[in-house]
Amino acid sequence: MLYINGEWRNANSGETFEVVNPATGQVIANVASGGRDETEEAIKCANVAFATWKKTTAAERASYLNKVAALMKEKAEDMAYTITTEMGKPLSEAKREVVSATAYVEWFAEEAKRVYGETIPASHPNKQLMVLRQPVGVTAAITPWNFPLSMITRKIAPAIAAGCTVVIKPAPATPLSAMKVFECFHEAGLPKGVANLVMGAAEEIGPVLTKSPLVRKLTFTGSTAVGKMLIRDSADTVKKVSMELGGHAPFIVFEDADLDAAAAGAAGTKFVNNGQTCICTNRIYVAEGVAEEFGRKLAEKVAALKIGNGLDEGTKIGPLINKQAFDKVQSHVEDALEHNGQLLCGGKPYDAGELKGYFYEPTVINYANEKMKIASEETFGPVAPIFTFKTEEEVIEKANNTPYGLAAYFYTKDLSRGFRIMNELEYGIVGINDAAPVTVQGPFGGYKESGNGREGGRSGILEYLEEKYVSINLI
Ligand code: ADP
Repeated sequence: MLYINGEWRNANSGETFEVVNPATGQVIANVASGGRDETEEAIKCANVAFATWKKTTAAERASYLNKVAALMKEKAEDMAYTITTEMGKPLSEAKREVVSATAYVEWFAEEAKRVYGETIPASHPNKQLMVLRQPVGVTAAITPWNFPLSMITRKIAPAIAAGCTVVIKPAPATPLSAMKVFECFHEAGLPKGVANLVMGAAEEIGPVLTKSPLVRKLTFTGSTAVGKMLIRDSADTVKKVSMELGGHAPFIVFEDADLDAAAAGAAGTKFVNNGQTCICTNRIYVAEGVAEEFGRKLAEKVAALKIGNGLDEGTKIGPLINKQAFDKVQSHVEDALEHNGQLLCGGKPYDAGELKGYFYEPTVINYANEKMKIASEETFGPVAPIFTFKTEEEVIEKANNTPYGLAAYFYTKDLSRGFRIMNELEYGIVGINDAAPVTVQGPFGGYKESGNGREGGRSGILEYLEEKYVSINLI
C-alpha cells in the first residue's frame, strides 16, 4: 500500500507487484504499484505539510519520534519476521536491524533539540552577525533492500527531526518492512503529509522525485551507478544530495595481529547479511608470513556457518536476494579459481533441498591476485579473497587503490602503526581491531565514489538543514 497525506491507499491504476521470499521463492504479498501521478501527489502533500511542520518546536517533533520508537519496540518481533521473509537475512540479524533502526529514531529525537545556531564576532561595532539553521524542505529518500528498515529510519528520522517532510521510495524487493515502519508513523499520529510512502517502478518514480523543484533534498542509499545517475538528474534543480553508495572494503591483517580475533572479525564483516552490505569486507590483505595460518583459521570458521532459511534456528547464511546476485557471486568465484586462487572452503552453489532460493556456500579463496575481478569489483556476496603483502607502504597503496572509500578494517597490536595506517586510509569509516564499527552515534559515509554526506552521529541531522547567515546593521 501507498501512504500519502496520512492515508493508506492503492495505486490509481489498481496495479500491484509481487513480493517474493528469496529463501522459498514463494510470493508472500502483492503491494500497490504507484507511479508518476501518485509521486507528484505525495510531493505536493509533503510541500503543504512542510509549511506547518517546519514551525513545530523541536520538542514536539522529538515527541512524535519517541512515540514511533516506542511502537517499533512493541512490534519488533513482527518487524524482524517481515525483514527475514522478504529479504532473507537470518532472523537474529533481522532482530539486530530492528534494534538499530529504532536507535536511529531515538537518536534523532534527541538531536532535534540540539540544532544550534551561532553568533559571529563582527568586524564593525554596529553589526551583529549570526547563523540560523533551518530545515531544507521536502526531502526525497530512495532506499535499498539489504537493510530495509534501518536505511529508512536513518533517513526519515533526521529529516523529520530537522523539520523537513519526506517522500520515500523503498526498494521493490522490500516494501513490507517500509509499510511496517509507516504503520508506526500512522499510529504515532504524525501529522498528515509529513511522511509519505510511494512504491512502484523506480524508472517512473525516480525522475519525478529528481526533477521536481519542490523537492529540495535527495538522500539515497544504493549502487554507485544509480547514485551517479540520481546526482546528474538532480543537477537541474540543484538539490542538496546525500549519497551512500558502493564500497570495496579492505581488511588488513599485520603479522603482529591477534590472528584469532582477526579471523573472527573477517568472518563477521564478510559474511554478515550473506556479504550483501556496502561495508562488507571485499579484500583481505594478510602479511605474507601469516597468510597460511590466517587462511586456515578463517576457513574453519566459515565452513561452520549454517546455510538455510533465515527463519530456522541457527542459520547464519541465508539466500542471495536474486538470480543476478547469485550469478555475480558464481562468476567471481569461477574467475578467481581460473586465476589460480586456492580454494579453502565453499566455491559452489548450495543445494537447499526444497527451498527454491539462490543459495551459495560461503567461500574463502587464498592467494588472490590483482587480475581477478574480485580484486576491483564489489561482489556483494559470500566470497572472501585473501591477498598477501610484504610491507606497510605496499598494503596502504593497495588498500587505497580503488575508486571506493567507504569502510576499511585493520588488525595490529602496534600502536604507532595503528595511527599511521589510520591516517593514511582514504575511507570514511575505519575499524581498528574492530570489525563492527557502525553505531548510531558515529557518522556513517564514504570518501571518493562511495558517496557524500553522513548519516547518524552529530552530522546526520546537518544533511537536512540549511545555514542562513544574517548580518544586522544596528542603525
Ligand atoms: P541494488 O542493485 O542493490 O538493488 P540499486 O541502486 O539498483 O541497488 O537500488 C537501490 C534503490 O534505488 C532501490 O530503491 C531501487 O529501486 C532504486 N533505483 C534503481 N534504479 C533507479 C532509478 N533509475 N531511479 C530511481 N531509483 C532507482
